[in-house]
Amino acid sequence: MRRKARAIARVAQAHGLIYGLACGDALGATLEFMSRAEILARYGPLGHDQMTGGGPFGWLPGETTDDTAQALCVLEGALDALERDPRATPEAIRDAVGERLLAWFHAGPKDVGATTALALAERERLGSWDAASRAVARRLGERAAGNGALMRAAPLSLLWPDDPVRLAETSRAVAWMTHPHPDAVAPAVFLNLMLRRILLGEDARAAKKGAVADLAALAPDLAERSTVTVRRALRAGRLSEERMADVPGWAPATLEAALWAVVGARDAKEAVLRAIHLGGDADTVGAVAGALAGAAWGAGSLPGTWVGSILAQDELHHAFARWQEWAAARWGKEAILS
Ligand SMILES: [Mg+2]
Repeated sequence: MRRKARAIARVAQAHGLIYGLACGDALGATLEFMSRAEILARYGPLGHDQMTGGGPFGWLPGETTDDTAQALCVLEGALDALERDPRATPEAIRDAVGERLLAWFHAGPKDVGATTALALAERERLGSWDAASRAVARRLGERAAGNGALMRAAPLSLLWPDDPVRLAETSRAVAWMTHPHPDAVAPAVFLNLMLRRILLGEDARAAKKGAVADLAALAPDLAERSTVTVRRALRAGRLSEERMADVPGWAPATLEAALWAVVGARDAKEAVLRAIHLGGDADTVGAVAGALAGAAWGAGSLPGTWVGSILAQDELHHAFARWQEWAAARWGKEAILS
């Protein structure tokens, strides 16, 4: 009888995941490509805390970048596939996400990561994601381990908090399609296994530890081939801010920086600020940390001025409402606590 009262997901945490991702992305976009030293000199410690826009692509205040746009493609695409067939395979979900990514790509976004752009072009040329990812792997080798699959992965955790096997398999397929390297895919799978634990009520530190074990159990090949991800996850939080500075676009380093920011923070706002002030790939570190922090502390922990200034309100609201409807149909309204 006690099981009945157990929540599968809490709306405030799910909402926090989506909006935390968007806030980290939009705030970090201002600082993208700056070094930690430059950020410190211009803003002071954690001093960039308002949505000002700017940055290398001339963003508007509250404008989100490809991280948020692609995370929405992942959520909407996965829901497209699941509404057609509740038992949709990881490949079917990948293909539906791919349709969304292609539509977004053709709309001419300001900024598209080079690896993702190559994969989308190869998918158009070759007609399937299997062929496209093989072509990317051949062409880029180790350089396919950028953080472009990690940055969009988080919403998948909302779909299977009760099914870690399916969550791991789908996260893998949705990462591998554009970033066919274990060092890119393992961080994405790890992130979702950690988010799953957070959504089920664990704090960030416990969830990180648990996700290391989950990755080894559910994706042993990835855990083994990307030992760098596991090592970085385990040590995140123990290194100094100086050692974490100037985060490159390499997926394991991005994951480590986001974990460092979240595990050492007292609330979601501080986690996002710690992430983006490290310098380097600030929008993506901000997006990954924001998803974790928003899920861990809930949407109410994000400053209202940040959430309110996000320009993509309609898109975020649409995807979130769709998820809520799907989740209530799947688990029953009583399992989705507010
Ligand atoms: Mg970006």
